[in-house]
Amino acid sequence: MSGAPDVAAEDVCVVPGCGGPAVRHLALAEARRAFDDLPEKGRRAPLCREHYRAWKKATREHRALERLGR
Ligand SMILES: [Zn+2]
Repeated sequence: MSGAPDVAAEDVCVVPGCGGPAVRHLALAEARRAFDDLPEKGRRAPLCREHYRAWKKATREHRALERLGR
């Protein structure tokens, strides 16, 4: 089957050079908190499992730092 519809194209991790299958969709602005160099493409940022974990870890550290900063 050639010429398949590119429905799955959106479900690839948005982090440049990754291309893994997306398991979560974040708002692009949210994803940018952990990944600086995301492409300006749409408002949603699909992330693969690895990068979703990295994002969670990064944002958790952000919050911890904010708390320490007070
Ligand atoms: Zn990824």
